Amino acid sequence: MTRPKHTRGFHGHGGKGALTSRMLRHTRDDDDELLLRERLHEFIVARLPVIFIFVAGLVVGIALRGMVFERAGCVPEELPEAEVVEAGPDLANPVRQAPKSFKRDTTMPRSGEGDASGSITNGEFSAGRDLVYVDDERVWWESDNDGVSDDECDHSIHAAMEMPFRRLVNLVSAAGWQLRVQEAYRATGTHADRSLHKEGRALDITVDRPVGEKLTPFEKIAAYEELAKLAWQAGFDWVYYENSRGTGPHVHASVRADGPRMPVLHQKGKAK
Ligand SMILES: [Zn+2]
Repeated sequence: MTRPKHTRGFHGHGGKGALTSRMLRHTRDDDDELLLRERLHEFIVARLPVIFIFVAGLVVGIALRGMVFERAGCVPEELPEAEVVEAGPDLANPVRQAPKSFKRDTTMPRSGEGDASGSITNGEFSAGRDLVYVDDERVWWESDNDGVSDDECDHSIHAAMEMPFRRLVNLVSAAGWQLRVQEAYRATGTHADRSLHKEGRALDITVDRPVGEKLTPFEKIAAYEELAKLAWQAGFDWVYYENSRGTGPHVHASVRADGPRMPVLHQKGKAK
């Protein structure tokens, strides 16, 4: 009598069994998913230091890149080793006779700087096109010695000033002195609005002994007079022995924007 019930019960049991196995399967799926999530979490956590280092590296890289670009004017231009000057201008000898004297507060020629070197070109100057990077281990550069707070670059000069400058370095060194570049190109501040320093066409220079005791203020008066003469002999278009109260005595020398430039470098042995 109870058989059908039992059967039903059996069937019922069978149904219950199927349900349980489905539930079990379902639970196993849940467990798999949970395990997968846990593994994924572990995977990410395990790699957090790597991810952090990567992101930090990216940030530092971008910051450094910014700094490099800010000081881009002070990065030496790289030339391939094979490139040499086949025939350059004579940079060892003076191009003018030495004046008999070159007293403080006087200029050569006697006319104003605008007449000799030309005024600031206003817009015709392009730092990227007209400036060249110069370096010479015999020279003392102020911007290499004044820390990073000042962004000026005394190695940046107008291409038209390279020849007289290199000649001056040779003349000063041959005389047993050390040329000191106090100021060259400066785009903003410090100088007057129409200063040729803003186009890299002016240099503020002094000299000192390369080794041993430094010059006394009294000795500087005579030494700077000799420097002013050499600057004139080196081919600068206007030389001023400036006795500035603000920056101290120095020689200010400038050139015309359309003056001769150093010959273009070309490869040795290559037909031109
Ligand atoms: Zn100056």
